[in-house]
Amino acid sequence: MGLVVQKYGGSSVADAEGIKRVARRIVDTKKAGHQVVVVVSAMGDTTDELIDLAEQVAPIPAGREFDMLLTAGERISMALLAMAIKSLGHEAQSFTGSQAGVITDSVHNKARIIDVTPGRIRTALDEGNIAIVAGFQGVSQDKKDITTLGRGGSDTTAVALAAALDAGVCEIYTDVDGVFTADPRVVKKARKMDWIAFEDMLELASSGSKVLLHRCVEYARRYNIPIHVRSSFSGLPGTWVSNEPPQGERPMEQAIISGVSHDTSEAKITVVGVPDKPGEAATIFRAIADAEINIDMVVQNVSAAATGLTDISFTLPKAEGHKAMEALSKAQTVIAFDSLRYDDQIGKISLVGAGMKTNPGVTATFFEALSNAGVNIELISTSEIRISVVTRVDDVKPAVQAVHSAFGLDSDSDEAVVYGGTGR
Ligand code: ASP
Ligand code: MG
Repeated sequence: MGLVVQKYGGSSVADAEGIKRVARRIVDTKKAGHQVVVVVSAMGDTTDELIDLAEQVAPIPAGREFDMLLTAGERISMALLAMAIKSLGHEAQSFTGSQAGVITDSVHNKARIIDVTPGRIRTALDEGNIAIVAGFQGVSQDKKDITTLGRGGSDTTAVALAAALDAGVCEIYTDVDGVFTADPRVVKKARKMDWIAFEDMLELASSGSKVLLHRCVEYARRYNIPIHVRSSFSGLPGTWVSNEPPQGERPMEQAIISGVSHDTSEAKITVVGVPDKPGEAATIFRAIADAEINIDMVVQNVSAAATGLTDISFTLPKAEGHKAMEALSKAQTVIAFDSLRYDDQIGKISLVGAGMKTNPGVTATFFEALSNAGVNIELISTSEIRISVVTRVDDVKPAVQAVHSAFGLDSDSDEAVVYGGTGR
């Protein structure tokens, strides 16, 4: 009997009924003899609603106040959950990220955890409490301001606490039964995996799979914390994400493909008419980096011999689009490019699998599937274990379905269940 960290996502605690259901599950874990630390997200779409509200009062809200606002969502659910547990006759105490010792840097809206000092959580556990921690937030080391870890950051809070408290497992409860070969909201025939290696999960996460965030998986891999992703709505075992499959049951041969992910949260910026000479790309991306924007794919076209000008396109989170356009416009005095184009009607489809390294023909099958579905490809990028393409946003669903089928990933048994959430 050890210490268990459980994380419940927004759709699991979307209303009072959900909170009571989750409270019963937590109490059952405690009754089984475990010490339980629970990390909770904001109820339902609360975070999105708070963001909408902020944008109505200020088009570009100040980072510090934005974080202060958003952390309120998790504080509501943590307090309600603690109350629900108490009314079942068990002791529980809720803690903000700051009280739980989640120390971050001071980059508002996407702070990084730099230390976890969970002294108060240990004390609460030793006194027989269930500890409830507000996910997705911390306090900055230097300024002592409240920070948030970026969208979906509660998973990272959970893994970070699991590492700091030396928990045997971090259970991530969500609205689907585990990690699927594609988003079950898009592919009904997606298959649940029993196990996936950290490496493949990292690629899926960085290419848009929303079930676990990249940063959370990265953290778990660094501290070797096995993650068990499962549904809070069913009692079914979910997917283990770890270095080795549980009980060492590594499949005879590694699957060639782990899954197909997609991402519609990015936009594409094209810098048109860039002089084709050394240093231009560097200046463009330095301007983007100085604005603290992370970019994804980059493509530079061959320059037209007649003009000596080239176009450079890159993708980035839509949420950073405005800031990036501003930064580039300012840089136009240094780089004499013609114009900027902004396109937020794009989507990205990625095929991920460690077996890709040693299997020829994967790329061909991928492009054939897209072609059969009548999907036009705008950008391509690859890693050792991933191929990604950018398409029109409307093509994303048919493309994901076509690729999933083409690689024989469709399940022949049940349809995947989505228990809740709006997928927003
Ligand atoms: N409530 C935050 C969000 O919706 C954090 C989380 O859910 O993990 O992004
Ligand atoms: Mg959420």
